[in-house]
Amino acid sequence: MKFGGTSVADAERLARAARRIVAKREEGHDVVAVLSARGRTTDALIREAQEISPEPDPREMDMLLSTGERQSCALCAMVINDLGHRAISLTGSQAGIVTDTSHTKARIVDVRADRIEDALRQGHIVLVAGFQGVSTARDVTTLGRGGSDTTAVALAAAVGADVCEIYTDVDGVFSADPRIVPDARLLPVVSFEEVLEMAASGAGVLQLRSVEYARNHGVRIHCRSSFHDEPGTVVVAEQETVVENPLITAVTHSTEEARVTLKGVPDTPGVAGRITTALAQANVNVDMIIQNEPVSEGQRADMSFTVPRTDLADARRALEPLATEHGVEIATDEAMGKVSIVGAGMRTHPGVAAQVFATLGREDINIEMISTSPIKISCVIRGDKVPTAVRALHAAFALSGEGTIRQERPFGEFH
Ligand code: ASP
Ligand code: MG
Repeated sequence: MKFGGTSVADAERLARAARRIVAKREEGHDVVAVLSARGRTTDALIREAQEISPEPDPREMDMLLSTGERQSCALCAMVINDLGHRAISLTGSQAGIVTDTSHTKARIVDVRADRIEDALRQGHIVLVAGFQGVSTARDVTTLGRGGSDTTAVALAAAVGADVCEIYTDVDGVFSADPRIVPDARLLPVVSFEEVLEMAASGAGVLQLRSVEYARNHGVRIHCRSSFHDEPGTVVVAEQETVVENPLITAVTHSTEEARVTLKGVPDTPGVAGRITTALAQANVNVDMIIQNEPVSEGQRADMSFTVPRTDLADARRALEPLATEHGVEIATDEAMGKVSIVGAGMRTHPGVAAQVFATLGREDINIEMISTSPIKISCVIRGDKVPTAVRALHAAFALSGEGTIRQERPFGEFH
């Protein structure tokens, strides 16, 4: 069971989460629960660091950020003990979560769950601080924003759990952000592939890495509200979803994109490799890439790509030496957004792209970049056009449909 920050934000909610955990235990299950930091704790800690230091040391940042999740677990253990059960709280390190050394966005490389398994055998409810681990160099690391989901999935895989329940402040996975599309539909079942594309293209409900991990290790995810008992969304392998895949499952979006344009890149082999290697070494996630071939021989090319806005400064820093060396100009645009449609049914249906582009055209929205996968089409557009684009596409593909469940709470824990 994993509880997001909103679900443990105050004493009453923490107690509610504790009661849910206890109820599961009383049904006869062994329970490992992963908790996030309470409410906006992580944001507050980041702010504190930035007030103190313009570019906080990443190792120390992880020491600081990992405390939020520990607070939640210790407090929850106290409540559970008062309810007459035995609970033990563990840090990520104590829980055996071993990561690589890339601070603030570490990846899990191993889970040594023997301490958890011992505690379960002794009849304990085990509470694990989400979003953190210990690196192969024995330093505390964190797993990137929203990382508690990944902690939960990794532990579920390691202990062979029947299910990884993600309790959150939304009712499940929707066909679009209900704040933008009020009649968005709750999806009872989605495939890993679809949720992966959705998470990658802006849906805030599950952290991308957690879904990757779940798919790779065959962990069944059940995403549901911590505020009531509605069934929520189950994430399973594509073969297990409905017989006939709907053409389009969801419209997702992001307003957190920045575009970098490199003007005058020498048109010689190896340059694109050097540019992207520099970005990869700086741990910048590059999304869409476009390169224009020069019109005539010997001219220079332009290359554009998008990065998360939060990575823009890192991207610039990584590229400056190359830009100086090759006489390339770096231009950036921070006000970009992205709208995507996702659906496993797209694999077998032609004409989806045409319908997307025509719909955006009718709304007078200019498409600046495009990328596709077998089950996704994404368009980069101006950030301020995103809500209009989402509504238009949701309507064009008739995604509202029957069984719409309205929800009052914001979409996504960590936006
Ligand atoms: N507390 C961390 C964050 O806010 C991790 C998480 O909530 O999953 O990003
Ligand atoms: Mg969170």
